[in-house]
Formats: sequence, C-alpha cells, structure tokens
Amino acid sequence: MLKIEGLSVSYGAIDALHGLSIEVAQGEVVALLGANGAGKTTLLRTISGLLRPRAGEIRFEGEPLGTSSAESRVRRGIAHVPEGRRIFPGLTVRENLDVATTVWRRRGMSADGDLDRVFALFPRLRERATQLGWSLSGGEQQMLAIGRALMARPKMLLLDEPSLGLAPRLSAEVYERIADINARDVTVLLVEQNTVLALDVAKRAYVIENGHIVLDGPARELARHPRVREAYLGA
Ligand code: ATP
Repeated sequence: MLKIEGLSVSYGAIDALHGLSIEVAQGEVVALLGANGAGKTTLLRTISGLLRPRAGEIRFEGEPLGTSSAESRVRRGIAHVPEGRRIFPGLTVRENLDVATTVWRRRGMSADGDLDRVFALFPRLRERATQLGWSLSGGEQQMLAIGRALMARPKMLLLDEPSLGLAPRLSAEVYERIADINARDVTVLLVEQNTVLALDVAKRAYVIENGHIVLDGPARELARHPRVREAYLGA
C-alpha cells in the first residue's frame, strides 16, 4: 500500500532522514520505533505532504505521491493524527469531527453514519459532543484526534505517539481502539515511544536511529532482539 524508497529530508542544513526505505502492506499495523530526534515525526510529516523530501520516492497504492498537496493525500486516503493532537480551538467535539468530512462530502451528503461509527468506537465523544474540543482531557483529546482522522474515511492512518502523556490505563485503551480500527480495514503506520504497546499491536516494526533504518522485522522478533531490549525496553 505504501512504498518509500531512498527518502532524504532536510531542515535547511540539518539532514533528518538519510535515504530511508520502508514498506507497509494493506491491512498491516507497522510501528516506527526510535529515540527522540531519530526522524520518526519527520517521516510521517513527509508521507502526509507537510514536508518535501530532498530525494527519494513515496508511492501509495502504486502511484507516486510526487509533490501532491497534503489535502490531496487526505483525499487519496492518508490521514495523519499529529503529535500533540492539534484539536481545533474554538470548535466543539462535533465540529472538530465534521471538519474532516470536507474532503469527501458534497452538498446533501450525510456524515451521520461516519459520526455513529466514531461515537461507537469512542462513546465518551458522544457524551461530550457539544463541549469545546480543547476542554477535553488528554485521553479524550487523543480519541477526538483519532476520530477526526477517521471522519476523512482513510485507507491508512498515520499516528504520531498516540500514547504520549496518557496514563497507562488510557494508553492501553487507545491501543485497543487502534486494533479495532485496523480490524475494520484501515492500515496503520504508527510512531511510538512506548515500545511495549507498539510491539504488542504492530505486526512489523522498523527501528530508526539518526535518520536511518537500523533494524526491521516482525514485531515479535524485534521484541526479543537484544538491541531493542537494551535501547527501548529497558532490559
Ligand atoms: P521525537 O520522538 O522527539 O518527536 P522524532 O524521531 O520524531 O523525535 P523528528 O522530530 O523527526 O524526530 O526530528 C528529526 C531531526 O530533525 C532531529 O534532529 C530534529 O532536531 C530535527 N528537526 C525536526 N524538526 C525540525 C525543524 N522544524 N527545524 C530544524 N530541525 C528539525
């Protein structure tokens, strides 16, 4: 579904990704692991069209994404849940969800079914539908950010640190919902500092260090790998 080859991305003189290649097959959950500053967020932002690569190619469903805009990538089925959630200020929970339907919705089309599916996944959002989005708790905001991405009807979700700042119980709950979303045919590429959670839900993972892929393989094998255990699992 997603094939990235030789991707290099720089911020001015700073090189963040160096000729990186990864693949994600339809239906997979794939995790990107790595320390702070490794380049994980840069990779997600480049896939969603917020950053331009210096070299390399990104293909989605066989087609090169080229220099297409972030908006057109959402229309093609790539939805990004950014680090820090970025809930729209001044909008209610319901309005935050509605905004994302503009990529597919035309006059007279209803998003009620989409809304019902998001509320079934995250019942707390239904209870808080008329409350301002930014007044929600951290966990609820994460659910809203994921729900908002789902309203765009994505084929692939890019999730940047979905457990960041959440208590363990809430992190586990968010990850259960990620598994549910994947079970409904949405492919997932996620960045996560919580290696235990990420390797639990993911089928495969890549380890990024200083803008390079240094390890990749099935999640179960990586969880046993000495380098992963030492660097990311505190073993
Ligand atoms: P974290 O887990 O801390 O979010 P990350 O793996 O997501 O880390 P990135 O945010 O992708 O890492 O950063 C990769 C490299 O690019 C780092 O060296 C970082 O300092 C640099 N970088 C990121 N954003 C910018 C920017 N806007 N301007 C300059 N350098 C940046």
